Amino acid sequence: MTVATPKEAACVVLMRQNHQHEWEFFWARRSDKMPFMSGYHAFPGGRMDEEDLEIQVENALENQSGLCACVIREAFEEAAVLLSPDAGKVPAAERLAARAAMMRRELTFAEFIQRHGIRLDANLLVPGGRWVTPPYAARRFDTYFYVAEIPGDQEPELWTDELEQGTWTTGQAAVKSWEAIDVILAPPTLHVIRGVRDWAGSDAGNNRNWEKLTAILLDAPSANGKPVESIEIRSGVVGFPVKTPTLPPATHTNCYLVGEQELVVIDPASPYEEEQLRLDEHLDWLQRNRGVRVREILLTHHHPDHVAGVAHAQKKWGVPVAAHPETARLLAGKITVDRHVLDGDVIELPGDPGWRLHCIFTPGHAPGHLCFYEEGTRALITGDMIVGLGSVLINPPEGNMREYLDSLRKLAGFESVAILGGHGQALTHPQKHIAAYIKHRLEREANIIKALETGARTVPEIVKIVYADTPPAAHPLAERSVLAHLEKLGAENRAQQLPGNEWQLV
Ligand SMILES: [Zn+2]
Repeated sequence: MTVATPKEAACVVLMRQNHQHEWEFFWARRSDKMPFMSGYHAFPGGRMDEEDLEIQVENALENQSGLCACVIREAFEEAAVLLSPDAGKVPAAERLAARAAMMRRELTFAEFIQRHGIRLDANLLVPGGRWVTPPYAARRFDTYFYVAEIPGDQEPELWTDELEQGTWTTGQAAVKSWEAIDVILAPPTLHVIRGVRDWAGSDAGNNRNWEKLTAILLDAPSANGKPVESIEIRSGVVGFPVKTPTLPPATHTNCYLVGEQELVVIDPASPYEEEQLRLDEHLDWLQRNRGVRVREILLTHHHPDHVAGVAHAQKKWGVPVAAHPETARLLAGKITVDRHVLDGDVIELPGDPGWRLHCIFTPGHAPGHLCFYEEGTRALITGDMIVGLGSVLINPPEGNMREYLDSLRKLAGFESVAILGGHGQALTHPQKHIAAYIKHRLEREANIIKALETGARTVPEIVKIVYADTPPAAHPLAERSVLAHLEKLGAENRAQQLPGNEWQLV
């Protein structure tokens, strides 16, 4: 599986001073229809087009002209804000009409600025760093961040296809709403709102010292194009994706670090030495700089793409490994599990207010599978029960479709606000995802029943009908999944197995 090359993109933090002379910025929620990071709060922005390279931007550095044009165009398309010294030339109604025409593809941005004699000037854009989407993501962007004070009294108006619920907020309020789990943020967004908060609360903010803001925003390796390593989903709940030989399209497994003074490491997953060392270095840094102590290694389940780094981490930190007894049994002889964790157990980690991980026994994908619900942040760590990328394989005899569906229903009983799966990005709207997972499996089951009714008798015959749209390369895995469904129907006395690996409805 090759890693996607990041595409160049740009986004802009639109700013203004409110009546109390506080700095505010504009952000919005990415619509649920968006294929990438839906539900996340973000700034207006998008991919650079060919067209952007043709647009002239005064005072732009040679290689940044296209990016500056891109971010100015995106601010106009998504928020109807014209970032130009000539913004006053176009009345609000005309601006909105032009934007609508652009969205209907009746007008290009280049035509619009030419028609009104509008100059674009890079001096209105404050550089705010460059962030590269980590390699584990399905879509990757090399995104340049800019900050811009809105010229004149333009009020952003969103085009609701991509962004919704646009609001003005202060850096301080935004960080608070992230802490209160009202919003979900990607690492650059969190970094930028913290930077804006620190700048706005200092003399630099009072004096409009934009150079200082750039300095603050660039003060992190990942703000300068170095890959993002860890993803702070909530305070004390951090994702650390590591490369693993897992099932495509995923290329990485998410290791999670919970706690601040004492840390639980969930699924140190990578068999690769350089990935294990990367995690070591991250934990070493936390220990040195923040006095963090690694307390325990915790496992969701026994699959190699979740436990291949356990022996290394166990040796490095000299800490116990905790898992469900079934996981311990399946790992016997390979990894020593020092402590058994059962359904309903709570792992408490110190802090103010601290963290409480509720252990939830969720067999189905694997016999000893555990999920973890963190009470304070309401984050649900789901291992391979629910994932942010790809799909979950139910592979008998370890995999059991009946148990899997029961476990999904059990997870629905927790009022979580984010699902942190073993692969891919964090998901918002947990209930929606859980319901969709259950629906998807039941629809497949209905199709299998239909196939049996129309004369299919063996697993390969059923796959040919039910997975007609899937490339044949995926059929061996599909066969495992069909078998899991047949076993479920068998256990429910709705189908029965005949000699010769044939099945029929009861
Ligand atoms: Zn697994």
